[in-house]
This record gives sequence, structure tokens and C-alpha cells, in this order.
Amino acid sequence: MEPQFATDYTAIIEKADRIDPVEYRKTRNYVDGAVTYLSPCISRGVISTRQVLETVLAKGYKIPEIESFVKELCWRDYFQRVGQVKDLNREIKQAQVPVSNYEISVAVLEGKTGINAIDEAIQQIYRIGYMHNPCRMYTASLVCNIGKSHWLNPSQWLYYHLLDGDWASNTCSWQWVAGANSSKKYYANQENINKYALTNQSNAFLDVSYEELEQMETPDSFLLTKKFVPEIFLSSASIPKIDVELPTFIYNYYNLDPLWHLEEKGNRILLIEPDFFSQYPISKKCIDLMLALSENIPGIQVFAGSFQSFTDTWQVENIYFKEHPLNIGYKGTKEPRDWIAEDGFVNLSASEVLISQGLDAYFKSTEIGRLPYAKP
Ligand SMILES: Cc1cc2nc3c(=O)[nH]c(=O)nc-3n(C[C@H](O)[C@H](O)[C@H](O)COP(=O)(O)OP(=O)(O)OC[C@H]3O[C@@H](n4cnc5c(N)ncnc54)[C@H](O)[C@@H]3O)c2cc1C
Repeated sequence: MEPQFATDYTAIIEKADRIDPVEYRKTRNYVDGAVTYLSPCISRGVISTRQVLETVLAKGYKIPEIESFVKELCWRDYFQRVGQVKDLNREIKQAQVPVSNYEISVAVLEGKTGINAIDEAIQQIYRIGYMHNPCRMYTASLVCNIGKSHWLNPSQWLYYHLLDGDWASNTCSWQWVAGANSSKKYYANQENINKYALTNQSNAFLDVSYEELEQMETPDSFLLTKKFVPEIFLSSASIPKIDVELPTFIYNYYNLDPLWHLEEKGNRILLIEPDFFSQYPISKKCIDLMLALSENIPGIQVFAGSFQSFTDTWQVENIYFKEHPLNIGYKGTKEPRDWIAEDGFVNLSASEVLISQGLDAYFKSTEIGRLPYAKP
């Protein structure tokens, strides 16, 4: 059965309540594993990583038994921290080499790569806007390391279609796979793909050893490339009714938190900013999801225009918004997003935990089991 992405806040909280972090550890890499499918809600700022972690801990799980789950939540926070200090449109650590094109293979765009699991994952993203994490890694590896496409245009393609599109998680992950945010490129051969995607394909071009894979020439079927040029959708909106005496709370694609300042009276405005969506285009499905999630916010009104044009039209004082690196020209009171831990550490177990992804020193284990998760 395909994953469902409920948009009603109560259903989202119930979904978080059903997380099985122990089963998660055992199965998360399998396409039918016990992953949460919460990413669209987390990426849209409906619920935070901290909220999810607190929900799980409230059930009595202890960190050591759920470390694998906690680490993934930390990855998300960490990528956000990277986004606060780095230009994510550029290489984080080093140039991707070799690069033969700045486009994307047509075979990938059409979901006709010849690798059944990847083709199915690409079709799934077109159908429902979700792709399982290992399939994202397989696809990115095929695109960047076999097809030798530079990561940026392909990451725009995936971001456009993902309901959980998050510019930081997306670009950091593409760069990690392509060796621009890691010391080694990521490869997956057919045996690995078959195991986790539950396929049984043989004699495909990835059905080779890792040594052969790393030396592989781009197959002819990948040589035809094309720039991914997104169609831009903007939502129409009526003119909001504003009470200039009240505070104004600004929501956007990255902040749809229904609990934010919930007890206060105020103008609640969802900005649909043309400049933002021109720079970071998303599909119609993603626009629709944003609007549906925004309905959890009592009294929300949609304004189609920039922050500047909003404040030019209404002389409101006391504007509040949540910090995000992609906010364009916001002015007012900037409030922090929720983080798992403010000091950049999360308490994990004392056992050896080392994740070799990301910027240096991320998730290095220490004797006392406090892991630095934000060192940008
Ligand atoms: C090439 C590529 C592109 C990606 N693009 C995005 C993106 O645009 N937006 C996005 O949210 N994630 C992205 N990811 C990370 C990851 O694939 C998704 O967060 C995850 O698959 C979401 O499904 P889930 O909610 O069921 O995750 P679960 O496995 O249930 O994890 C719970 C939560 O932890 C976080 N998380 C899990 N895995 C990762 C990870 N590897 N990196 C960062 N956070 C993680 C997410 O917030 C997720 O909702 C990308 C990964 C790759 C390899």
C-alpha cells in the first residue's frame, strides 16, 4: 500500500504517536520498513524534530535502544544548521569530480533507467511525492556518480516533486552522495538495491562489484541529458482582512506550525511569495499540501506576494516570523525554530557511535555519550 499523508493535525499527532523506533532500527533501510512518513509535516514545520523525539521518549523508550531513530532526527536538525551558515547552492566541502554535464539524464526524468527499483521509485515520486531514503540515495548515485551529472539541477528536480522537499536536507544529501559533502562518493550495486528494495533483478548494468562500479563509464542510455526546467505554480489568493492593531504572525512554506502563538490574537498570514517559489520551485502537489496543512492554523489567510509588498500594503507593527535562511527580506521579531537541543548536543548512549556523513566531527562519539550534532 502506498503511504498516506494525512494533513489534519490530530491525525499527524496520532501518526507520531504510532512510531515504533525499535522496529525502525531493524527495518528502516527496506522499502517496506517501519519508517514514519512524517517528513512532509516536519519539513513544512507542522511538527518539529523535538516534538517527535519527545513523543517517542514519553512512551518510555530509552535513547540507546532508539539511537538509530534519534540520529535521523539529528541529521535533519544538522542539515538545517548547515543551511544557516552555508550557501546550499554551492559545494559544501569540495567540487564534485568528474562532472560531464549540468543537467539530468532523460532516462532518469522518464523513470526508464533500466534499474527496476529506481524506476519504480521515480514513478512513485511522480504519483505521490515521496521516495524512500535508500531509493533517494540510489537515484542520486546513479545520476551523479554513474551519469556524472552535477548534483544541483537533479536536486532541484527531486526537491520540486518531494512533499517533504527541504532545501537543506536535499542539497546536503545530494552533495553527500556526489562526494561534494563527503570524502567518498556513495555507490550502490544491484545486490544492495535488490536486498533493500526487495527486487530480484540480475544482469542489469549495476549488477557488478563495487570496484567495477566505481570505474564504470556512463552507459549510453544515460548520455542524453536535459535541463530540468520546472513549471511554476502559484496559488491564487483573496485579499486578507487585517487588523493593524493586532500582532501579525507570518507563515510560509517552512513554517506551518499550528501551535505557534496559538493563544494569542493576531493576523495569521501564509505568504505565497513569487520570488521564493521562482527560486525554489515546487510542484502543484506540494502547493496543495502546503495549503491543506495551513488549514490547521486557526484564522489563517493567504497573501500572494512578497513580505515587502505585504508590509507596504498594511502598516502592521509587531510582525513575528520563525527564523529560516530562505526567508526573503523579512523584518520584525525573528523567533527560533524548535531544535532537538539548543547547545548543539544530544545525549545518546556511551557506546561507540560514529556517522561518517556530513561535516567533520558530526556525531563523533564521546565517553559520556554527548554527540555534537551541529558544528557548522
Ligand atoms: C538525495 C536525497 C535527497 C533528500 N531530500 C530530502 C528532502 O528534500 N527533505 C527531507 O526531509 N529529507 C530529504 N532526504 C532525507 C530522507 O530521505 C528523508 O528525510 C526521509 O526519507 C523521509 O521519510 P520519513 O519521514 O519516513 O523518514 P524516517 O526514516 O521515518 O525519519 C524520521 C525523520 O527523520 C528525518 N530524517 C530521516 N532520514 C533522514 C536523512 N537521511 N537526512 C535528513 N533527515 C532525515 C526526517 O525529518 C524524517 O521525517 C533526502 C535524502 C537523500 C539521500
